[in-house]
Amino acid sequence: MTEFAADSVLVFIDVSPAGELAKSAAGLLGAASQIGTPVALIVADEARHSELATAAGALGAGAVLTADLGGADTALTVPIVDALVAASALVKPDAILVSNSIEGRDVAGRFAARTSSALCVDAVDVARDDEGVLARHSVYGGAYNSTSAATFGAPVITVRQGAVDTRAEAVASPVVVPLAVEASGAAAAKIESFDEAVAESSRPELRGAAKVVSGGRGLGSAEKFALVEELADALGAAVGASRAAVDAGYVPYSYQVGQTGVSVSPQLYIALGISGAIQHKAGMQTAKTIVAVNKDGDAPIFEVADFGVVGDVFTVVPQLIAALEAKKK
Ligand SMILES: Cc1cc2nc3c(=O)[nH]c(=O)nc-3n(C[C@H](O)[C@H](O)[C@H](O)COP(=O)(O)OP(=O)(O)OC[C@H]3O[C@@H](n4cnc5c(N)ncnc54)[C@H](O)[C@@H]3O)c2cc1C
Repeated sequence: MTEFAADSVLVFIDVSPAGELAKSAAGLLGAASQIGTPVALIVADEARHSELATAAGALGAGAVLTADLGGADTALTVPIVDALVAASALVKPDAILVSNSIEGRDVAGRFAARTSSALCVDAVDVARDDEGVLARHSVYGGAYNSTSAATFGAPVITVRQGAVDTRAEAVASPVVVPLAVEASGAAAAKIESFDEAVAESSRPELRGAAKVVSGGRGLGSAEKFALVEELADALGAAVGASRAAVDAGYVPYSYQVGQTGVSVSPQLYIALGISGAIQHKAGMQTAKTIVAVNKDGDAPIFEVADFGVVGDVFTVVPQLIAALEAKKK
């Protein structure tokens, strides 16, 4: 029987509908390596196990537990939670890390309820002290940092995508352990049919993007919002927006960054014509570098910006794009 390290950290890795490891895998395994020995759990079609295990090894998983779908393609969440319960019983980890994705949050909540574990949500970092694993959070619109820990048992921690930069050392041949999973028979929503939403954009997805360029009401119209997209394309960035820009119909709701939109933690966040209301900052304040362009020097966005330009976006941004294009030549 495979022995697992005493400081094992179990990482549940989302698998995309195309059968690839989700982009969040690198950050999750990197976070796990900060606090112990990463052990990955992959629930996927058996034919994909070997390839996915190698991919997880390349991201730092020394051991990979593999479970067949067990109905995960026809029922929501429960088959994955069943696999996580089996994995956790086998590994006896010090913590369980899950992506703060829609599916990850669902899995983490169900798993924590079923095993009476502590649940720490939307962590932006993890650490260890003498008593065990800690989760760090950015709360109240990024105005405070808080730390949570479990008083008993291994905490289940959902980690914000893009928040952890640490990358674990690659493992060329991870130990692969096929997992025997007993179906719990717990009630699950059934997937009866689905429509594939084909993304027509070549831009990166907002959630988890390394660079994000967002526009606000200051852009003035849907037509003029094209300037935001132009800068994003020059940088290879995803496009985001403030709620005011969404409410004004410049872009769809899926672009909204903030308390009631998407939370992002990119390496670079550029805010164009965005005032920096607390509800917007809540979704972007953990970005590593924040650049703001706003014609009002007193706009609150400058309080969190690393670089700020007080100026008109229609004057500043075309110059920035021209400079970027010139650099590419
Ligand atoms: C419950 C609740 C939830 C919310 N959730 C969210 C959320 O998830 N995300 C979010 O973004 N907001 C959210 N809001 C709304 C939030 O409070 C703000 O109203 C919103 O963020 C403002 O968007 P804005 O900065 O684009 O617009 P404004 O506040 O109108 O700011 C526009 C800025 O553009 C600048 N500007 C104008 N023209 C130019 C120009 N030519 N060049 C340069 N700068 C220019 C102005 O100086 C101004 O600072 C929420 C509000 C509530 C009550």
